[in-house]
Amino acid sequence: MARLDVALLHAPAIYDFREGMIEFGPVSDLVPSSAIFEIFPLGLSTIGEYLERNGYLTRTINLAFRMLRDKSFSVPDTVRALDPTIFGIDLHWMVHCHGSIEVARICKKEHPDTPVIFGGLSSTFFYEDLLGYECIDFILRGDSTEEPFRQLMEILTIEGKGYRGELLADIPNLSWKDATGAHRHNELTHVPTDFNTPALDFAYNMKSVIRYRDLIGQVPFKDFLRYPMTASIICRGCTYNCVTCGGSSTAFRKHFGRPRTAFRDPELAARDLGFQHRYLPGPLFLLNDFMQPGMDYARTFIEALGRENIDAPVGFELFDPPPPEIYELLQENLSDWSIEISAESHDDAIRKQFGKGHFTTAQLEESIRLAFEHGATRFDLFFLMGIPGQDRASAMETVEYCAGLYDRFNNDKRLLTFTSPMVPFLDPGSMVYDNPEKYGYSLRATTVEEHRELLRSAHWRDVMNYDSHLFPRDEIVEATQEALDRMNQIKIDVGVNTREEIEGNTEMEWGMEFKASTFLNCVEIGIKYETKNLFNGRTTPAVSDIHRKWREENQVV
Ligand code: SF4
Repeated sequence: MARLDVALLHAPAIYDFREGMIEFGPVSDLVPSSAIFEIFPLGLSTIGEYLERNGYLTRTINLAFRMLRDKSFSVPDTVRALDPTIFGIDLHWMVHCHGSIEVARICKKEHPDTPVIFGGLSSTFFYEDLLGYECIDFILRGDSTEEPFRQLMEILTIEGKGYRGELLADIPNLSWKDATGAHRHNELTHVPTDFNTPALDFAYNMKSVIRYRDLIGQVPFKDFLRYPMTASIICRGCTYNCVTCGGSSTAFRKHFGRPRTAFRDPELAARDLGFQHRYLPGPLFLLNDFMQPGMDYARTFIEALGRENIDAPVGFELFDPPPPEIYELLQENLSDWSIEISAESHDDAIRKQFGKGHFTTAQLEESIRLAFEHGATRFDLFFLMGIPGQDRASAMETVEYCAGLYDRFNNDKRLLTFTSPMVPFLDPGSMVYDNPEKYGYSLRATTVEEHRELLRSAHWRDVMNYDSHLFPRDEIVEATQEALDRMNQIKIDVGVNTREEIEGNTEMEWGMEFKASTFLNCVEIGIKYETKNLFNGRTTPAVSDIHRKWREENQVV
C-alpha cells in the first residue's frame, strides 16, 4: 500500500476514561454519542476527502469509538504502526481538550519527527495557548481549513516533514512554530463565501472502510451500527446570535474570521442527502436550518429533495417555527419527515435573553399543530437548564409546561420533549463566555489547561466551566435529576416511552454488539461505489462522481 500522507485521529473527550471512576452525568443526552463524545466533527471527513481529492493518501481513525468498543484497544500500538507525513487531530468541541492533547503526546512520543496539527473551532479560539504544548506543531484556524491543509501538505511533501521555514508564512490561517520555536500566526484570510467545495457524501469514509478494512475506525458514534443515521449540514456559520453558543454569528465574526454565513447550494444540499440515502440505510438529518437563507432557498431545496425520491425518515433542525408553506412543501415532497426545534425555555422572556426572541411559545405551539396537520412523523422540542435569566423554579416550570403541552396535543406520541443542563462547558467564544459578568455568570476555566483539569473531576458538577449566579451548579445537578425523572414520567404516562426503554438508555456501554448485517451492507456499498477507484492509489481523486459532476457544471474548484 502506498505511503500514508495524513493520519486524522479523533480522540475521546477524556483519554483514560476506561480507567477512571468518573460520573459522566447527562453530558451527552442531546447528542447521539456517548459521554466520551466519540462522534467526530464533519470537518474531519471534509478535510480527508479534500486531501485525497488532491492526491494525498489520508486515513481517518475514530480512536474514541475503538476505545469505547474494545477495552483492550491500544492507542499507542495503533499510532506506532502508522507512519504518516503528518498527524491531524481535531479539537473542535472543547470537551475533547483532554483526549486530543493526550493523543498528540502519544503521536509525538512514538514519532518525534512527525508534525502534529490541530484544527476546529476550539483550536481556533485557543490557538496561542495550544501552540504552547510541545506536542503541537501547527494549528489551522477558521472553519474552512481544507485548502490551507492542502497547501501545507504541498510544502511538507517537497521540503520534508521537519520543514519550519518561511514558505509556511504564506499559508493562510496557519499558526506554527518556526525553526527557532517562535510562535507565528498567519492571517486568517481563507474564509470561503460559499460552502460548495467540500463533498458531503461520505464517499471518503466508505473508501476508507474498504481500503484499510476498518469499519470501526470510521463509525461516527456508538449507536451507528444499530441505527445508522447520517447527518449533513447546509452552512458554515450561523445567522442567529444565541448568547451561549460558540457558533453564533458574533462568535464567527469575532473569533473565526467569518463575517457572513456560507451556504451550500440548495440543489447540492439536496443531492448530498439523496446520495447518502442511496448508499446508507438509515434516517437522514439536516443540521443548521435550511430556512436561514430565505424562502426561495428553502423552496428550491425541498423541491430538489423531492426529486431524490427519498423514502427514509428525514429530520430537519430548524431555529425558528417556519412559515406554513414550508410544511406544505415538505408534505408534497417527502414521505417521512420530522422537525427539531430547540426552544430553550417555555418562558418567552428567558428565550429572548438567550437570543431567540424571534418567536414566542404561542407561535411554536401553532407551528407544532401545523406540522402534525401536514403529516410530520415527529416533532422534537428541546429545552436547556442553566441559560441566562433562568433559575431552578423556571427550569422546573418548563418541565411542567411539557406536561401541559402533551395535554393540549391529546398526548400525540409524535411530540417528543427533552431537557438537559448546559454541560459540560459553556462554549468558549460565545458572548456569555466573552463577557460572563454581563450575563450573570462567572467562569471556572479560561485556559486549555484549566479546562483539562476540570475534565478530570469525578463528578459532572465540577466539570462545568461556569457558574450561573441565578442557578448555582449544585442546584443544576439536583434540578437535572428532578427534571429528568419528571420528564421521563410524563413520557411514560403519555406512552411515548416505556420505563424499560428509558432505563436502558442511561448506562455507559462498554463494548458493543457488532452487527454483521450493517458491516456487510457498508462493504457492499463501498464495493459498489468505490471498486473502480480503490486500487488506483493516490492518483485517483476520491471525490464522488456526483459531487465532481456538480462542481464541473457549476465551475467550483
Ligand atoms: S444555538 Fe443559536 S447561534 Fe448557535 S447555531 Fe443554533 S441558532 Fe445558531
